[in-house]
Amino acid sequence: MQILDGKLVSAAIKAQLADKVTELKALGQKVPHLAAILVGNNPASETYVASKVKSCAEIGYHSTLLRFDEKISEKHLLDNITLLNENADIDGILVQLPLPKHINEEVVINTIDPSKDVDGFHPVNVGKMVSGLPTFIPATPYGIMLMLEHYNVPTKGKHAVVIGRSHIVGTPVSILLSRNSNPGNCTVTLTHSHTPNLKELCLQADIIVAAIGRPNFVTADMVKEGAVIVDVGINRIEDASKKSGFRLVGDVDYNAVAEKCSFITPVPGGVGPMTIAALLKNTYHAAVGQKGNMN
Ligand code: NAD
Repeated sequence: MQILDGKLVSAAIKAQLADKVTELKALGQKVPHLAAILVGNNPASETYVASKVKSCAEIGYHSTLLRFDEKISEKHLLDNITLLNENADIDGILVQLPLPKHINEEVVINTIDPSKDVDGFHPVNVGKMVSGLPTFIPATPYGIMLMLEHYNVPTKGKHAVVIGRSHIVGTPVSILLSRNSNPGNCTVTLTHSHTPNLKELCLQADIIVAAIGRPNFVTADMVKEGAVIVDVGINRIEDASKKSGFRLVGDVDYNAVAEKCSFITPVPGGVGPMTIAALLKNTYHAAVGQKGNMN
């Protein structure tokens, strides 16, 4: 069994991007600038945004963090996004989800200029991704593909079972894995909460991508010998032995499943760091006016 080490691959991608920043500076060009919007004080969102901002600093990008009270009106938030759209110094905009219930996420995402939508959630960019056109690929699915590519995980002709059909993970991953590309060329089964025979399907899977949001949901009896396991889940479970009072676990029962599989991503240290690396790649592409197509 080989661990798909997201920290290691993400560090390699960050080092490449840092070199590109050095080149841009040497040419007298502006460095990429990411604007992140955080509404409210959701602890997980705070952590994600902080590590995105920190990663920007590590590789020489500029970043701007706009924080708003959770009672902010939708109009005020939209006005701020419009200002970022119009600000030529800002290359990429991300709005950390979820947003408070009184704000319509769809309206917010639709307000971001598609050419600055480095999360790849705008319908224009989703449409381009589905059509196989160069665009911003949503960061988590993009990070998963970069990880499979880095480790030369065989995907061609394989059966991939994706568990979870969210717009940010499951659905885009299913599209990318089925593409005529490398990684890709999988036969994909996209499963969800109404799939009656999940265990049976998982037992047929050469590759399982788990994006459900339920701790240890994928157990060893659901996994075929030699399968590849990509665990997207990030779940906080109580742990009195930790100073914080919790620890992070994935959607996969890691210890038992790891014994059976050929490759597996740990949590933490797997898909999470890759998501940030992919976001930074998208931001670079936005800054230099190229749309990445998984490269
Ligand atoms: P979501 O809640 O939007 O979607 C969950 C999906 O799981 C739904 O499509 C639902 O149909 C499916 N599901 C629920 N119960 C099921 C069942 N019994 N059988 C089969 N499918 C079932 O979640 P999301 O936003 O895609 O996130 C999933 C997990 O991934 C969460 O733990 C989240 O924190 C994590 N996540 C991690 C990263 C990262 O960078 N590592 C990024 C995004 C999300």
